[in-house]
Amino acid sequence: MAPKHKTSLKRDKPLEQCAVFGIACNDITYSVSKLLYSGLISQQHRGQESTGISILKTGGRIFTYKKKGLVSTVLNDKVLSKLWGNVGIGHNRYATTGAQEFESPDYMQPFHFNNNEIEFSLAFNGTIPNYTEIKQNLEEKGRIFVTNTDTEVIAQLIASIALRTEGWPNILKTASSSLDGSYSLLILTAEGDIYAIRDPLGFKPLCIGELKTEERHHYIVSSESCGIDVLGGKIIRDVEPGEILHLSHQKGIHSEMVLKSERTALCQFEFVYFSRPDSIIDGVSVAQTRLQLGINLAKNDPLLDDPKFKENTIVVPVPDSGRSVAVGYAQEAKLPYVEGLMKNRYVWRTFIMPGQKNREAAVKEKLNPIKAFVKGKNVIILDDSIVRGTTTEKIINLIREAGAITVNVRISCPPVIRPCYMGIDFPTTSELIAGRFKNLYGEENYIEEIRKKIGADSLRYQTIDDLVSAIGKSKNQLCMACLTGEYPLKSVNKIIEMERAISSDRN
Ligand code: SF4
Repeated sequence: MAPKHKTSLKRDKPLEQCAVFGIACNDITYSVSKLLYSGLISQQHRGQESTGISILKTGGRIFTYKKKGLVSTVLNDKVLSKLWGNVGIGHNRYATTGAQEFESPDYMQPFHFNNNEIEFSLAFNGTIPNYTEIKQNLEEKGRIFVTNTDTEVIAQLIASIALRTEGWPNILKTASSSLDGSYSLLILTAEGDIYAIRDPLGFKPLCIGELKTEERHHYIVSSESCGIDVLGGKIIRDVEPGEILHLSHQKGIHSEMVLKSERTALCQFEFVYFSRPDSIIDGVSVAQTRLQLGINLAKNDPLLDDPKFKENTIVVPVPDSGRSVAVGYAQEAKLPYVEGLMKNRYVWRTFIMPGQKNREAAVKEKLNPIKAFVKGKNVIILDDSIVRGTTTEKIINLIREAGAITVNVRISCPPVIRPCYMGIDFPTTSELIAGRFKNLYGEENYIEEIRKKIGADSLRYQTIDDLVSAIGKSKNQLCMACLTGEYPLKSVNKIIEMERAISSDRN
């Protein structure tokens, strides 16, 4: 969900904003609350600020429970035992900075809409850049908003369309045609149906599956396929970009319609960093892609041409997302893969502490080199991305202090030069080290300048062509706007033009 750019917390990784999960069981005497819990906890990596579920209670009323905190804290046994119903949706949220947004349940999801006209609950992953325009139109028609989120804009839009439109598929089709954004969203209706909708460019993943037991049958919808796997379910397929899918035990899984687009734009960062390695997105294994990214980096690496250098060299992943990449790199380079950085799993949110000093202390708390492994070695570290560069610089220092002879950095994603307007929390261009250095030093020199700044002995990034070939899709099926500056949404290009006009007025 959306509220726009936030820069006060200095994150040094791009951050995802939410997971959605839904399940419908054919047995009305059975409660799906524990299955919702499992589906959400398997996707905790997509959002850790708040957890919520909406469940259709016996009698046809939707009940929603949401709170700040991790799935395991919010949905404890006591809560789950009270949430009884055979159809439900859930949401993990990655929050933005505003205190009000962070604390108030109004800003958490699912967003439960209930008035004289209609009742439904909505769980949403994405962002709607044109939401202010839609909101203004709705306000002119007399709609009153309680939050400043695009989630509520979608809910109010749906409610206003429902006043003059028959049937959920038509309501949702009309609503989708007004939304220019990235979204995977679930609607739980008061009739006990779930609708799963993916935007026409398919920025965010969304897939469906089923779980059959001797007694019951469940339909499942999940941001990532790992949510279906953990329940022992079978993945049926991905929701297609632009598709409105209806999951109901009366009608089965029914594709209501597909809003076709000439191109699609699945976020490349899902493969590089966000998604769990055991997930499969649009038919592509995340783990295999990461492995291939590592192989690609090693294939083109001039460092490996020196047999003397290789004699005393180890490949070290930055845990956790650097692991599969480092395995691929080590395999291809025929070098030992060594877990040379110890990650403290109990330190949360390392990269959001304001202030350089705090961040450096936090990096050491979270990642500590294992001296016995790195001392006297040439170390090649593998990481997924460099955002601000501050964390990479600190990791390099720590490994050097631990006695490494050289520290060489290999990055599985090409340089991130522009912010994301499609729902991922990124810094601005001037805060992105590659964006700033490209502007300062030009295409030819900026990578070398980044190397000097972070203090690495050598630095190499994945190329865009190698990234695309590792994912195995074509360029016009992927969003790579943060790497190229070419944004696939009209509303985003409009925002960028407005930002440019404002900044040239100021100058
Ligand atoms: S701009 Fe980057 S992070 Fe944002 S959707 Fe596109 S690829 Fe993903």
